[in-house]
Amino acid sequence: MRIAVYPGSFDPVHYGHIDIIERASSLFDKLVVAVATNPNKKPLFTAEERVEMLQEVLKDYDNIYVEFFEGLTVNFAMKQGAQVVIRGLRAITDFENEFVFALTNKKLAPTTETVYLMTRSEYSFISSTGVKEVAYYGGNVSDMVPAVVAEKLFEKFNNSSI
Ligand code: ADP
Repeated sequence: MRIAVYPGSFDPVHYGHIDIIERASSLFDKLVVAVATNPNKKPLFTAEERVEMLQEVLKDYDNIYVEFFEGLTVNFAMKQGAQVVIRGLRAITDFENEFVFALTNKKLAPTTETVYLMTRSEYSFISSTGVKEVAYYGGNVSDMVPAVVAEKLFEKFNNSSI
């Protein structure tokens, strides 16, 4: 069985992530979307909220699972029986960090491959940070996130024009 893990903060999940998830799920028998619970980061949404939003958005896919994880991605991937770690690439600015991430993974777990999927051009501008900033100032995020996520952002920021 070909299994892949797609790790990230997903704070919150947006259409750029969802596109990568859909495409990766068609390449593997099973895809585990792994929500990082890094104690050093201060996310807007709790890990439970981030998992719930992903589960809601991905409920129609029967080979996609959403899990929490803490610690090294490659350790989590090995525990899941995954041979592959999936990441998305937006722009050249992502490359440097991702290059280091992939080489570190290779050092730690030589049998695990880190595989990159290029963003779709219409989603290349979307980031969780950008989504939160637009929502914070009451802008329309409907082209960036599903309605369920826009509602959660609205509840967090308590404004009326999202
Ligand atoms: P981080 O690893 O900084 O917490 P995220 O959790 O937001 O980043 O993203 C998880 C993965 O999704 C990363 O590989 C990131 O490059 C990728 N990604 C984020 N936004 C997009 C996008 N708009 N298109 C394609 N991939 C994306």
